[in-house]
Parts: sequence; C-alpha cells; structure tokens
Amino acid sequence: MAKVLEVRGVCKRFLGLWALREVSLSLEEGEILAVIGPNGAGKSTLLNVISGLLKPDAGSLYLLGREITPLPPEARTHLGLGRAFQIVQPLPELSVRENLLVGALFGKPHTPRRAAEAWVDEVLALTGLAPRAHAQASELTLLEDKRLELARALATRPRVLLLDEVMAGLRPKEAEEAVALVRRIRDSGVSVLFIEHLMPVVRALADRVVVLDYGEVIAEGRYEEVAQDERVREAYLGRRA
Ligand code: ADP
Ligand code: MG
Repeated sequence: MAKVLEVRGVCKRFLGLWALREVSLSLEEGEILAVIGPNGAGKSTLLNVISGLLKPDAGSLYLLGREITPLPPEARTHLGLGRAFQIVQPLPELSVRENLLVGALFGKPHTPRRAAEAWVDEVLALTGLAPRAHAQASELTLLEDKRLELARALATRPRVLLLDEVMAGLRPKEAEEAVALVRRIRDSGVSVLFIEHLMPVVRALADRVVVLDYGEVIAEGRYEEVAQDERVREAYLGRRA
C-alpha cells in the first residue's frame, strides 16, 4: 500500500520543553489511524505541525510522496490535506451550503463554480446534511455542527483528512453516528488520521493506533495490542490521565 502521509523524525520544542521528540509515523492509503496519548502528550502539536500551523524544529513531512515541510497551510490544503477542528469554525451568518461552497472554491485554486456546486451536493449527501443545506450555520445542533465541520474539511477535496477530537461533547449514540460517517468518508477514498480521547471511538474506528507520551511514540499497533501494552497502561494510569 502507498503511504499518503509521512512524518519523519519531527521535533518541536516550546521554551526548552520537548512537545515532540523524533516522531515518525505514516498513514497508508485508505487507512484510519488514531493518535492517542495522555493530556500534554503532544497530539495537538503533531496535528498542527502536519497541517502547517506550526513549524517543526527538525524533521520532515511528506504528502502523497511530496515534501511539504516548508509549505504554508493553504498550500498543503491545495495539495490534498484537509483538517477538521474540535472547536467548530463555520461562518455563522452563511448557510450550510454556502459554508461548503467557500471550502470547495478555495480549497483548490481555479475550481469552476459549477464543479464546486456539484461537489458540495455530494458532500451534503455523504454527511447527511442535505436536508439542512439552507439552514444558517448558527442554527445547527451540536451533532449537525460536527457534521458541518467534517463537511467543510471534505469540501476542500482532501486525500488525507486530519481530525482533532471531533467527537468531543457528543453523546454515545451521536458518537456512533459520527463514527459511521468517518467510515463513509474513508470508503469514499479519503485516508484519515484522527486524535481522540474517547477510547470506544478509537476502538471502533481505528485500523491502527499510535500512542504518544511526553512527545515520543511509545507504542503502535492494533487497538487491542496497544491497550495491553505495559508502557501505554503506565502512561495513562501513572501520571496525568
Ligand atoms: P495534547 O494535545 O496531547 O494534550 P499538546 O500538543 O497540546 O498535547 O501539548 C504538548 C506539550 O506542549 C504540553 O506540555 C503543552 O503544555 C506544550 N505546549 C503546547 N502548545 C504550546 C505552546 N504554544 N507554547 C508552549 N507550550 C506549548
Ligand atoms: Mg490536544
């Protein structure tokens, strides 16, 4: 299988403290990969380095075989990297459909209006938001908000989608629906790297799990494997979980 995203030896320090230390990992085409770890482990920093919001102090990043380390976030979006945030960030005055159209038009430069509209209709169908297409973004329920956040990321036509705790705040039943949606997204041809602290979600969704602790990868494997790993159990039980 082809690697669609590769992180090689990435280091990031804040004021002398290592947030990421020689982190290497890769995402295979069609894979759903979870990155987990206790609070402060470096998960959000890793996502910020991948999306280009933070510059690594060392190491390199590759998207679809192409080095993206020096590129700003917009350029990474244009090359096929999408991102959804824990804090939902739609344009509240616009409708659901208009929000997606913004993503579709600006996610890839020179997208003709008609192609963008057609793609937005597909994204609305995929995310179950079609009945709410004309609702104002500010009127949505929490679950619909989360769907819109995923839909906005999809609107940019990513090949790789980064999700930062998008299930936070959902009830178990709603989280199940969101899990099913992420699976549909993967089945549509998008590879997914997600951060999540809800372990039932990680277990249900991840093909593979990478565990960070104090900025280092301490384990990697299927959920059942890493959940049994002594270092992982210590990391969660011992200190800050
Ligand atoms: P996680 O998302 O796993 O909880 P973070 O990536 O947010 O962890 O943080 C990793 C470490 O880096 C923590 O010790 C945190 O305090 C520190 N950190 C994160 N962002 C900054 C920042 N902008 N400035 C200083 N320290 C930071
Ligand atoms: Mg975080």
